[in-house]
Amino acid sequence: MKKRKDKKSGKICGKWMVRNYNLKLLFILITFVIYSFAAAAAALIVLLAGKIIVKPMSIPNFIWVAILSVVLGLILSVLVSKMVLSPITRLEKAMSKVAKGDFAVRLETNSKVEEIKRSYDSFNIMVKELGSTEILQAGFVSDVSHEFRTPINAIEGYAMLLQSSDSVTEEQEEYIEKILLNTRRLTELTGGILLLSKIENSAIEPKCELFSLDEQIRQAIVSLEMKWQKKGIDFDVDLEKTQISGNPNLLSHVWLNLIDNAVKFSPEGGCVKMSLKNFSGTARFSIRDSGPGIKEEDISHIFDKFYQADNSHGKEGNGLGLALVKRIVNIHRGIIEVRNTEGSGAEFIVTLPLNSDNK
Ligand code: ADP
Repeated sequence: MKKRKDKKSGKICGKWMVRNYNLKLLFILITFVIYSFAAAAAALIVLLAGKIIVKPMSIPNFIWVAILSVVLGLILSVLVSKMVLSPITRLEKAMSKVAKGDFAVRLETNSKVEEIKRSYDSFNIMVKELGSTEILQAGFVSDVSHEFRTPINAIEGYAMLLQSSDSVTEEQEEYIEKILLNTRRLTELTGGILLLSKIENSAIEPKCELFSLDEQIRQAIVSLEMKWQKKGIDFDVDLEKTQISGNPNLLSHVWLNLIDNAVKFSPEGGCVKMSLKNFSGTARFSIRDSGPGIKEEDISHIFDKFYQADNSHGKEGNGLGLALVKRIVNIHRGIIEVRNTEGSGAEFIVTLPLNSDNK
């Protein structure tokens, strides 16, 4: 009975092996072919060498023949294994795209190997599922953030009304200040989440226009004046005249966030250095602060959503700023880099093409 069962499964297996190959068997077959070929080639070379030289082969000659056949076998196995492993390499490349958040990637194959066909199919199903949950999640996040805005605005409005009332005691005034501070933080947070989800869902029209980048950066510095004045921060600014094509509303978030962070992390009376240069069709903005810099282990995470490496400033931010900055820079086909400077502090460098046709 057992034997029949085995026979039966062998039959099924045999059937599919006619149309498709089993990966294990394929490897055995390939190795066998390679070694047989190498051995046959070696024998042929020995034979030919024997005929040419007439006398029996000397030991050094035999070593040469052996080396030659090994090299030949090696080249063949590398070529064949490359061919066999190419579907796996494709799968690996597609997986790393998915890991970076690209859920549109799909794999097609004409391979006759059953395992490869099945893993490609499973991969496609997995990515489709992941993509749909991502869309659902993003839609939910965006809806919730939107719905949060109205009650937050109402709380802020009533708190401001209370603040303007004459009958408020000193203690109540303190509470009102705290309510206002936290509603502003919530407004910033929901605004950040909303903008981020819009960018991630490509719901924002890039709306490129030509504008003065140096002017925009200057405006960002001025709009943060309250913060840097309070800390007595000194600015060393060298901004070259730069006309850029991009989305001014989105790009202003980049400068505001980077300058805000530089001020936040610099000590009282510290210095922030900024420069804007353009060359080879790109604008290069650099901002250096005099703060503690960023720990090496945190550098690769600071662009992640809600990541705050330095908890001492947690109250002043929400960990969304740099995630937004990176995405905005990326949709303008630019790059952002960060490093610790030799003296002290962190340096952020944004490189943007002057004409980022990001459609
Ligand atoms: P946050 O709102 O917390 O500032 P960001 O996304 O802007 O959020 O920054 C993420 C984290 O990166 C910060 O919490 C901080 O730990 C680190 N970081 C950003 N800019 C600097 C800087 N100039 N110097 C030191 N650390 C920084």
